[in-house]
Amino acid sequence: DTLGHDVGDELLKRVTTRIRGLLRDSDVLGRLGGDEFVIILEALEEDLAPQRVSERIIETLTKSFLIHSQEVTIGTSIGIAISPDDGTDRDALLKCADSAMYTAKNHGASAFSFYREEVATKAARHISIESAIRHSLAEQEFFLEFQPIIDLKTREVVKAEALIRWRHSELGLIPPDEFIPIAEEYGLIVQIGEWVLRNTCKAIEQFDQEGCYLESIAINTSSLEFVTGNMASRFEGILKEYGVTHSRIDLEITERNVLGECEGTEAELQRLRSLGHSICVDDFGTGYSSLSYMKRLPLNIVKIDKSFIQNIPYDQNDVAISDAIIKLSHSLGYQVVAEGVETDEQLEYLLAKGCDYAQGYLLSKPVRQSAFAHTVEDIHRRLSLSDTLVQRIRRAAFQ
Ligand code: C2E
Ligand code: CA
Ligand code: CA
Repeated sequence: DTLGHDVGDELLKRVTTRIRGLLRDSDVLGRLGGDEFVIILEALEEDLAPQRVSERIIETLTKSFLIHSQEVTIGTSIGIAISPDDGTDRDALLKCADSAMYTAKNHGASAFSFYREEVATKAARHISIESAIRHSLAEQEFFLEFQPIIDLKTREVVKAEALIRWRHSELGLIPPDEFIPIAEEYGLIVQIGEWVLRNTCKAIEQFDQEGCYLESIAINTSSLEFVTGNMASRFEGILKEYGVTHSRIDLEITERNVLGECEGTEAELQRLRSLGHSICVDDFGTGYSSLSYMKRLPLNIVKIDKSFIQNIPYDQNDVAISDAIIKLSHSLGYQVVAEGVETDEQLEYLLAKGCDYAQGYLLSKPVRQSAFAHTVEDIHRRLSLSDTLVQRIRRAAFQ
């Protein structure tokens, strides 16, 4: 690209010639577009054939090219998919090869990678995560981070969301999106949920002592916690143990959780609600968003998914959707939290539309328990300092 079209075209021709020289007549060489080539090796006699060919291609393409008296060197990344193991049609095989190619790219300048290995590595990680979760519950490798939530009218931090983190001794920091689904699959989520609840209780106690009083902290729940059938009584026991009142723990559920076939979920939610917990629908708008269940379930809070907040106020669809969610929730008597608020503009817009709470990187990322009280002070200082924001908020509040 940097040397101009002529050189690029000539380079593609030379690359083709060099690769062609390594293939049998029956093999197919094609160019997919840009700098992507596809090779079909037919009737492999031995397992190592694709590896051998790849090694030779990399070797030949590593030698520099002399084009219009310019010396050109390139890197090569090769992804290998094998039929029928990885797929039997063109699309499936290309997809696997493509994915393997990106793995190869990550390995360095010139490398190849088998899709099969990728699958094997993923499976291995999966299994090791499962046993590691069991181990880590005992070994204290989990910790919580807390993300502040502000009341848009008073500009004060009144709530927080507890988010689990896992720092594994060998695998490093594993994101919840990766291990929660595995924990659910292996039935470990109930223990994790209990761990989160206990540690949130401890955090509430600590924040209180630090003079950083929160109305409540929200914890995320998984549908499997509801099907155990004794969630409410377990919660009751644990909160009693820590001397924390139920109203100080909000429960976040996702639409998928509550809309599942499980009969008991609704009754369990009712019991938790009557204990004093606020129930918050998380990621609202990304699932079915069924109006009938919104009316039927014992909800208090609706959390607009961050995907709708991201492009406010520029994307008219997102503006319309978040607007509608706020109006609908209010008319049903629910409060509204906007998550993923990253800009002043978003905050201002949400305030003008009567949204009740906001959470997002603009205010703070999720922080360690020890840094929380300080973060809250910092938010309060920033919000009181930003004169223009205060003016905007006042203006909007009196509109
Ligand atoms: P979620 O409940 O939707 O959590 C919000 C996610 O958005 C968090 O990611 C948070 O760090 C991120 N986030 C917050 N503010 C912003 C922002 O302004 N912009 C952007 N782009 N992102 C923001 P995280 O911590 O990686 O959590 C991912 C998911 O893992 C959570 O999604 C939740 O479904 C699940 N999870 C986390 N902790 C727990 C837990 O204790 N129990 C269960 N069952 N699930 C959990
Ligand atoms: Ca959540
Ligand atoms: Ca969410």
